[in-house]
Amino acid sequence: MGDFMDNTIQYVSGVGETRAKLLRSELGITTIRDMLWYFPFRYIDRTKVYNIGEIGESLGAAYVQFRGRVTGTSFAGAGRKRRFTVYVSDKTGSAELVWFQGVKWIEKSIEVGREYLVFGKPSFFRGELSIIHPEIESVEKALNRKMPGGLQGIYSTTEKLSGAVGTKGIYNIICNLWTLVQDKIDETLPPEVMHRYGLIPLKEALRNIHFPQTPEKLRQAQYRLKFDELLGVQLNIQSQRTQRMSRQNGFVFTKVGDKFNSFYNNRLPFPLTGAQKRVVREIRNDTVSGYQMNRLLQGDVGSGKTIVALLSMLLAADNGFQACMMAPTEILARQHFATISRMVEGLDIKVSILTGSSKARERRHALESAADGSADILIGTHALIEERVVFSNLGFVVIDEQHRFGVEQRARMWTKNEQPPHILVMTATPIPRTLAMTLYGDLDVSVIDELPPGRQPIRTVHYYDSARLRLYGFMREQIALGRQVYVVYPLIKESESMDYKDLTDGFEAITRDFPLPQYRVTACHGKMKPEDKEDAMREFKEGLAHIMVATSVIEVGVDVPNATVMVIESAERFGLAQLHQLRGRVGRGGGQSYCILMSGEKLSKEARQRLDAMCETTDGFRLAELDLKLRGAGDIHGTMQSGSAFDLKIANPTLDVQILQTTQQAAMELLEADPNLSHPSHAGLQKLKERYSGKERSDFSMIS
Ligand code: ADP
Ligand code: MG
Repeated sequence: MGDFMDNTIQYVSGVGETRAKLLRSELGITTIRDMLWYFPFRYIDRTKVYNIGEIGESLGAAYVQFRGRVTGTSFAGAGRKRRFTVYVSDKTGSAELVWFQGVKWIEKSIEVGREYLVFGKPSFFRGELSIIHPEIESVEKALNRKMPGGLQGIYSTTEKLSGAVGTKGIYNIICNLWTLVQDKIDETLPPEVMHRYGLIPLKEALRNIHFPQTPEKLRQAQYRLKFDELLGVQLNIQSQRTQRMSRQNGFVFTKVGDKFNSFYNNRLPFPLTGAQKRVVREIRNDTVSGYQMNRLLQGDVGSGKTIVALLSMLLAADNGFQACMMAPTEILARQHFATISRMVEGLDIKVSILTGSSKARERRHALESAADGSADILIGTHALIEERVVFSNLGFVVIDEQHRFGVEQRARMWTKNEQPPHILVMTATPIPRTLAMTLYGDLDVSVIDELPPGRQPIRTVHYYDSARLRLYGFMREQIALGRQVYVVYPLIKESESMDYKDLTDGFEAITRDFPLPQYRVTACHGKMKPEDKEDAMREFKEGLAHIMVATSVIEVGVDVPNATVMVIESAERFGLAQLHQLRGRVGRGGGQSYCILMSGEKLSKEARQRLDAMCETTDGFRLAELDLKLRGAGDIHGTMQSGSAFDLKIANPTLDVQILQTTQQAAMELLEADPNLSHPSHAGLQKLKERYSGKERSDFSMIS
């Protein structure tokens, strides 16, 4: 059956070459399975047929369905403004059906005197009911329809697609497809599992997700399909865990040696916080356990994750292993390289760097020192995962600001070794553990829940653009106190050129208001050459420039303690997580720091809530929660899906926590009884497991 489901949809009636191409490019649908697993995003009740007289503004229905006989038609307007009106009525009232497009075709197919079933969005003009572009079908035909009534699924389409296949078109394709496949759907779950968890058969679930007769049937279908997805994911995670725990093939860092000790005793730039110490201990315990470590370190911006990473890497070096640290941006990689090189100066530790823009010499040096084992620590960007980077004995991998990496990028790192290195993933974006598990597989979580001492909370205010003079006055005051200022402009992909214009205009305005020789302004953005970026960063870091005008490239991890003012332009265009990250660039030294959110006067409700939240709290965990709420499940789902390697169509790990837990339990029990799912009755489970293994994802949990 697998083969059949993998067939292209091109030959399903209603598709054809052009639509097949569009479905692929717009929705990523190529096979019959893809199409069958393309579920409606909402449903409209079509069991109800109204009398026209019942449909009034007070009904408040988004869609209505009624029967009406055509009493006449008329044309109005000309050219593009031409409209075609059909007058219908029943015993209780009358309505107008209006078309602006496809007029010719409608005119031909409508017969005066005939009764039609009409479905559409009601609108009212002076109390008169009209429906624009309704779905319409003769009553005889409606009664003979293949998929009768119930709830009708509404499928999302894209702008490009809707010309060729609208939601109705997709619905029709699915109807045609259903007659083809309904007898070819193999059950994935053994009967006892279905029985135990109260699940309906897969075939029934698929029918009811597309053509539900009742809300209850729909609910059962959703539950069953979510269960399948999450069980598929959990079967993978749990079997990896079992394997990891059965292998004992983790590198053992038996000793704490000279490198760690001399750094810890003589070179530590500050006493560690309790939380940092705890996490170092946790990592230490992991690396003597004999199992491969797989740890997620969550800690708010500025909580001091870097030093924890460094200490761990020193531990690796003490035991004769190399370590590497991957950062999501060039700037951040360079900064880590500078900070870490400085911290270990004079100790017997060799640090190399490799990024996409490394010059030949740097590159050669990095590659050689990684391969011959002379580099203790290799720092870099995703250039580190390129094929030609070969380590002599990689024992420890740090991934910084993990949320910035695609799964695929993360994945490639570990295939570098026969024996898996220990993995430490660091993030400033807190995620619940259950969710982290589904997203990143089998892992342990550490938290730094304590900021370094002496940090004063950052004061955050929101100004409208009209208060710009006040802002400039404040910046001058701060600069006079010896402080430095960031001014950040949004950078949003779709409108890049416009954003750069904002930035360059902003840069000009600021250099005008903060002229030489008193003030030095520098700029940093993605279109600059890496060495220019670096120069700009260095200038700022060394205190030579007072103001750094930048796009959000500085968002992640940049560390300049003397910068105490963060001005965010067009703050309404940033998401909460990003605002919080940006704000985290200040408040790193001892001085009182400020974050100033600049925005236009007109704000959407959500934008206002985001800015208010920023002014209210500096707690990253609270903001993350709020972000979940504000962005709504749909959006998060989207983000999570793209962040996760498992292509989930219906389950939402954030919202379906209960099902997540149930399937976790189920997966553990199933695997305990039949670790390889080799029992004949488990063939379907095995397929499910393969389907949700996340192909390109040999995630960091999956090294073994
Ligand atoms: P993040 O967790 O955001 O990566 P960093 O590791 O960049 O944070 O640390 C933020 C700043 O705090 C750095 O300037 C670092 O030197 C400083 N820092 C880290 N830990 C401590 C500590 N225990 N005491 C004082 N300062 C610290
Ligand atoms: Mg950091």
